[in-house]
Amino acid sequence: MDVDRYEVAVLGLGGVGAAAFQSLACRGVNVVGIDRFDSIHEHGSSHGQSRIFRIAYFEHPDYVPLAVFSQERWQGLEERSSKRIFIETGGVWVGPESGCHVRESRLAADHHGLDYELLDPDESMRRWPALRVPRQQICFHEPDAGIICPEHAIEAFLAEGCAEGGRIMRGNSIERIELEEDGVVVQLGNQWIRARRIVMALGSWTKAHLDALDLRPRLNIDLEPQRQLLGWTRPRQPELLGEERFPVWLFADNEDSIQYGFPICHDLPGPGGVKVARHCPGEVCDPDAIRRTVDETDERFVLEGLQERIPAAFGPLHSLKTCLYTMSTDGHFILDHHPADDRIVIAGGFSGHGFKFCPALGEALADLVLEGGSGLPVDFLGLGRFNTER
Ligand SMILES: Cc1cc2nc3c(=O)[nH]c(=O)nc-3n(C[C@H](O)[C@H](O)[C@H](O)COP(=O)(O)OP(=O)(O)OC[C@H]3O[C@@H](n4cnc5c(N)ncnc54)[C@H](O)[C@@H]3O)c2cc1C
Repeated sequence: MDVDRYEVAVLGLGGVGAAAFQSLACRGVNVVGIDRFDSIHEHGSSHGQSRIFRIAYFEHPDYVPLAVFSQERWQGLEERSSKRIFIETGGVWVGPESGCHVRESRLAADHHGLDYELLDPDESMRRWPALRVPRQQICFHEPDAGIICPEHAIEAFLAEGCAEGGRIMRGNSIERIELEEDGVVVQLGNQWIRARRIVMALGSWTKAHLDALDLRPRLNIDLEPQRQLLGWTRPRQPELLGEERFPVWLFADNEDSIQYGFPICHDLPGPGGVKVARHCPGEVCDPDAIRRTVDETDERFVLEGLQERIPAAFGPLHSLKTCLYTMSTDGHFILDHHPADDRIVIAGGFSGHGFKFCPALGEALADLVLEGGSGLPVDFLGLGRFNTER
């Protein structure tokens, strides 16, 4: 059998795989990155113009060092690219002072000595006249927050990886992964490649590929694909909402749901206007059969509350798209070796909040696959926290 040989194969070139590909290629590793789609696409989790970047992490303070590491890398990538990747706008997180989003952001910021301000409704609305902060709520202002453009970021990661000698194979669907004594063989249609080690960064398809591996003990983890929505309004008062004067924002609906959105940015791909969405549990789906058509219920769901919170941003939706979350059972990422074969490194379960960390994840994945461990503090994302054998 005629096969191409590599040191490492990165399976999946969404945000996470693309970042790992870049890190590996920049270390001089003979790496190939593989994706089933020809170009940057809208089938997975890494599309839709913008992602929130924030550091004072309410999900868990252990993410803070990874965000700090990523911030510097995003700034570097932005400087080297001719396209917009990282836009520093600051961010405002609105909710009850005792609610988890404000409370835990504050705890993470205090723990790591990060800059922030707590603003009452009057001061918040004085600074950002488009905001309407309810009387009994408070605004956590994070000056280092901002926006990342996922399409431009992936393009830049891949371009830098290729410039360092990495190879990309796009339009190639991975059909089988076989573990042999002297390497891992990956079947792509009637083509095969062989690598000493692999990084599996297959987004919502990760679990299906893990389940298909002929390994004992089998890995018992749940990674649940969920349908999510992204909408763009034609705002009533766009002059109040430009990136130079308005931050990224989120309003807590309750402890499990957030409405969030972005200022109007120029030179990003995709629809114009104000992007708005909700971070909350979505409809469980098969990633190959996700309901892509959208209806009035979806529109109402995305817009609900916007008129009261940011009336200037309210207006009819002129674009509404779907996207996939891949939820782990505890909402935290999984970054670890396969317990039955350490030639496989798993990157999955990014649970709707992974993009901002791509530079740190790429670096840690390169460490794990080459050296067995990472200097970055990623142990809390290991499989040890689950009972994974079955
Ligand atoms: C609506 C929405 C909003 C979000 N907002 C934020 C945010 O504000 N901030 C933030 O930090 N994060 C956010 N996230 C999360 C973040 O975007 C994801 O965590 C991240 O994009 C996950 O990237 P990934 O590389 O794991 O997955 P993906 O981007 O899905 O990449 C997986 C890749 O694997 C490929 N693949 C799958 N099967 C095969 C196969 N058989 N053969 C070859 N290739 C295959 C796919 O084609 C795909 O390109 C959001 C996500 C969504 C959906």
